[in-house]
Amino acid sequence: MNTFVKRRPTQAVRIGRVVVGGDAPVVIQSMTNTDTADVVKTAIQSAELARAGSELVRITVNTPEAAAAVPRICEQLERMGVDVPLIGDFHYNGHRLLADYPECAQRLAKYRINPGNVGHGRKRDEQFAQMIEIACKYDKAVRIGVNWGSLDQDLLARIMDDNARRPQPLDAVGVMREAMVASALESAARAEELGLPGDHIILSCKVSGVQDLIGIYRELSQQSDYALHLGLTEAGMGSKGIVASTAAMAVLLQEGIGDTIRVSLTPEPGGKRTQEVVVAQEMLQTMGLRAFTPMVTACPGCGRTTSTFFQELAQSVQTHVREHMPQWRAEFDGVENMTLAVMGCVVNGPGESKHANIGISLPGTGEAPTAPVFEDGVKTVTLRGENIAEEFIAIVDRYVARTYKRKIASTS
Ligand code: SF4
Repeated sequence: MNTFVKRRPTQAVRIGRVVVGGDAPVVIQSMTNTDTADVVKTAIQSAELARAGSELVRITVNTPEAAAAVPRICEQLERMGVDVPLIGDFHYNGHRLLADYPECAQRLAKYRINPGNVGHGRKRDEQFAQMIEIACKYDKAVRIGVNWGSLDQDLLARIMDDNARRPQPLDAVGVMREAMVASALESAARAEELGLPGDHIILSCKVSGVQDLIGIYRELSQQSDYALHLGLTEAGMGSKGIVASTAAMAVLLQEGIGDTIRVSLTPEPGGKRTQEVVVAQEMLQTMGLRAFTPMVTACPGCGRTTSTFFQELAQSVQTHVREHMPQWRAEFDGVENMTLAVMGCVVNGPGESKHANIGISLPGTGEAPTAPVFEDGVKTVTLRGENIAEEFIAIVDRYVARTYKRKIASTS
């Protein structure tokens, strides 16, 4: 794993069976987009997210019907054999829902409270206190999740007044950043005064600008040792959302900041919700912070690539690995660290293939129609003819079975 990253020390927070912060690896989480009152749909999507690798799943709890559904969603997940801590996302009426639906309060593993959406003035303090007291009663963790789209307006007004009195006032962006950090830290301090221990508190301050996110989290990290949840809010759709989220979070993760991440992607029509989990895994794995699934290195192809066969092979190998990973992970120790290379010609093909655990160098334009295969840096076979894809995938399967230690002794 990446030895260049030194994680900032934070308090370890237990959320069900998952630990966020402290020495724990960076945890991946995601959020459903189903109507929580629809028990079956929410349980199915939570299970899909968990099976894709989401270690925590957040669901919105916005109505009495949604709060009443929470225990039934948990039961449904148990029946499906899925063990994933559920987090309740509360805005405006969380104090009432948690008080009126004690089974919901008990079954959730963590509550997300947005200090900008708890109420105003004295009501805000009372309603925030009510939620924290319920968290204390049931020994639950809380994320104090500030969002710039719903920043506490009273606090913002106060910071703007203070700023106006400074000899060198901050610009509007500086005031917004300061207000977000203050909202998170003041709410956390208030929660501790109310009896919630620091190791039950996670902070987040989500914005949609990459530079703002980096600046705010550096500040948060300097000013406290609470566990931090990273995420770029409203990151967007497709490559824009992926690039923006990665650009922001990678900088922070490299600085050792961030204990749990969520990639907030807008799914494309018909797209899978689980994509946000795959992107989060790939972000952590390409940075060398965690390993989830064997990585396939493929060259981009160029004028030397003879046909689309090279792209098809890279895709087949990637798909084969992803599809087999649940079984491999259960059966073989360390298989997630395997690296594969699928290369388009002799220029970089053999070199890159030798660096991978297992690699293939396809013939480029004008090269002999042969594809040498390398295993642990040594050429073991040269494939030819029509069945190169099937033969290479069979070689990968044999390599896995031969190389990684079986976790469970065979009963046959
Ligand atoms: S390895 Fe060959 S085919 Fe692939 S990008 Fe490099 S030169 Fe082009």
